[in-house]
Amino acid sequence: METSTDGAVPADAPASSPDTADAGARHATGGRGTGAVAPASLSPSRAGDFMQCPLLYRFRVIDKLPEKPSEAATRGTLVHAVLERLFDSPAGERTAPRAKSLIPGQWERLLAAKPELAGLFADSDEQDAGEKLARWLGEAERLVERWFTLEDPTRLEPAERELFVEAQLDSGLKLRGIIDRVDVAPTGEVRIVDYKTGKAPRPEYAEGALFQMKFYALVVWRLKQVVPRRLQLVYLGSGDVLTYDPVPADLERVERKLHSLWEAIRLATETGDWRPRRTKLCGWCDHRSVCPEFGGTPPPYPLPVLPARASGTGRESGTGGESGGA
Ligand code: SF4
Repeated sequence: METSTDGAVPADAPASSPDTADAGARHATGGRGTGAVAPASLSPSRAGDFMQCPLLYRFRVIDKLPEKPSEAATRGTLVHAVLERLFDSPAGERTAPRAKSLIPGQWERLLAAKPELAGLFADSDEQDAGEKLARWLGEAERLVERWFTLEDPTRLEPAERELFVEAQLDSGLKLRGIIDRVDVAPTGEVRIVDYKTGKAPRPEYAEGALFQMKFYALVVWRLKQVVPRRLQLVYLGSGDVLTYDPVPADLERVERKLHSLWEAIRLATETGDWRPRRTKLCGWCDHRSVCPEFGGTPPPYPLPVLPARASGTGRESGTGGESGGA
C-alpha cells in the first residue's frame, strides 16, 4: 500500500520513512541540530513524490513536515488492515460478513495507535459526528465487500502479507517498500498483489500505476533471483483488476529509471535546490503555505549545502518531470 494516490496512508509515511531510516548517506551528519538526514534509500511512494514535485519530496523526506490525516487515506489504511487480518481465519471462514465484522476492531486499533484520527469526525454536534463516522465506516464496508467480487480469499493462501522488502542494487542504491500480498503458486511462480481503495486509472495512465508494482518486482527479483510472474493491482473503488506480466527487460528499464531519479535526488540534496512543480495535484498538498508556488517560503534547509559541482550544477532537481511510467 505504498502509493499516496491510492488514498491510503503510505506505509512509509514521512515520520518513519524508510527513505531516511538509514543515515548512511553523505549528508548524514549535517542536520544543523534538526535531526534531518539525507535520504539513503528509495521507496515507490517517495519516488512518486519526487516525480510529482521535488519540493514535495523535500518537505516529506528531509523536513518531515507534518501532514493532516485525511478521511480517504485513513479509510485506505483501515481497509488494508481488514484484508490482511482476514487471512488469519481458516479459508472457509473468509467471507464478506466476516471481513466486515473486522472493521470496528481494526478501527479501534488504528485509533489507539493514532488518537488524532478521532479529529477526522469531530463535530460540535455529537449526533453529526456520529453520523459522519458511521457514513465513513459504511464506505469502508462497501470497499471490503467489493473485494469479494474481484478475488476469492477462500481459494487464496498468501505466502506473505504486508511484506517489508529491501534490496541493494549493484550501484549501492537501496530500494525498500511494503508489498500488500505475495502469492506463490505450487510451481513457484510469484504474484505480487496491491490493493487500491481508489479507482482504476484510465488506460493512458496505467503505466504510471504499474510503476510501483515494477519497483516491487525489481526488488523481489534482486532478492530472490526470480522475476515475478504477475503484478496485480486490485482497485476496490471501481471494481477493476489491472495485471501485468513483467519480463526482465521491463525491470531493467525500471532500474535505470530509478538510478537517474536517485542521481537527481542526490544532486538536489547536495545543492538544496528542490524545485516546486505546480500541477493539479497541488490541490491535495498540505504544504501550500510554505510553497513558493503559492506565495509561501520553505523552512530553512536543514542540511548543509555543498559547493556546486564542476559538472551537473544548475541542473534542475527534476528528473521527476517524467511520468511515473517506467
Ligand atoms: S503545493 Fe504543489 S508545487 Fe508546492 S510543494 Fe506542494 S506539490 Fe509541490
